Amino acid sequence: KSGSTQNMAANIKVVVRVRPLNQRELDMNTRVVVDVVDEKMLVFDPKEEMRPFFYQGVQQPNKNFLKRANKELKFVFDNVCGQNATNNDVFETTTKDILSSLMEGYNCSVFVYGATGAGKTFTMIGNAENPGITYLTMEHLFYTINSFEKEREFDIGVSYIEVYNENVYDLLKPSSTPLQLREDSKYGVMVAGLTLNSIKTAQELLNMLENGNKNRTQHPTDANAESSRSHAVFQVYVKMRYKTSSQLRIVKLSMIDLAGSERASATGCVGDRFKEGANINRSLLSLGNCINKLADGSAYIPYRDSKLTRLLKDSLGGNCKTVMIANVSPASTSYEDTYNTLKYAARANKI
Ligand code: ADP
Ligand code: MG
Repeated sequence: KSGSTQNMAANIKVVVRVRPLNQRELDMNTRVVVDVVDEKMLVFDPKEEMRPFFYQGVQQPNKNFLKRANKELKFVFDNVCGQNATNNDVFETTTKDILSSLMEGYNCSVFVYGATGAGKTFTMIGNAENPGITYLTMEHLFYTINSFEKEREFDIGVSYIEVYNENVYDLLKPSSTPLQLREDSKYGVMVAGLTLNSIKTAQELLNMLENGNKNRTQHPTDANAESSRSHAVFQVYVKMRYKTSSQLRIVKLSMIDLAGSERASATGCVGDRFKEGANINRSLLSLGNCINKLADGSAYIPYRDSKLTRLLKDSLGGNCKTVMIANVSPASTSYEDTYNTLKYAARANKI
């Protein structure tokens, strides 16, 4: 392994979260195709127990004709969160640790990846009873900066934007005019004309996120009426001034609720919807490409290939800490989506 590969290995963490079966899946008595073995391992499409086969009350010698071959693929990740894991459990194994890097001056990024309905937004935003990791991380950030207050002064600004169809929009101040990306010597990559909302407590954040989420572009598709085809990007700018030197440092934490990873073709999209799909795949593909190239230690990272990767150019690679949370459904009805998500996550995990 080259030095940069090892560096990247230490800097990216891949966690898989398996959501519980929903009521519809339970009602259909759906087979479970993800078996969480322990906190690091899962088996996809496990072997099924050979059920005794009766014909007219007489047990028959087991025949395989009713059984299709199971893949029985073992996957190992930095962490696997099973159906009973709470958002707080996910927070403990994902973003809690990265705040120390942030305090040391490194940008950090967190992605939730997965098909529509796999639990990305539940993980990121959650609800009033189960606040998601964005809220929990911010709560911990305020706790963390308190412990530094003797040496540093802090100013926290947040933004919430969406990348939809390769355009950037402000979710906190909705407008149909897309915003442009700029590179700023102090802030790094910036969205021009975006106002940062200053916040002092994690509580202030909850309403902001909920309202922002309502502004996300949603287009019902055949496959899922609540399908979200946009990438939602929550960014926290931490401005810190060291009291002794009065040196100023700005670090950025980005938390991204990615668009559904299912293929446009699977949702029966045509025309404009199809174009959206193509663009979504472009940003997702491009993100995957950049992560792979960083892993290979490539000199050239194609950040400019998509809006999302341009936006995150200064938050991936180098000493930036990255957490990828892959969300999957355990139901056999999501077999292909789950398989694809696990493969994507496994590729990122090899880094
Ligand atoms: P996505 O954002 O990936 O499309 P959602 O987060 O909206 O998916 O999840 C789909 C549905 O499943 C929602 O109703 C959500 O509340 C529910 N859900 C997802 N993950 C969990 C979980 N871990 N526990 C309970 N309900 C969940
Ligand atoms: Mg969602």
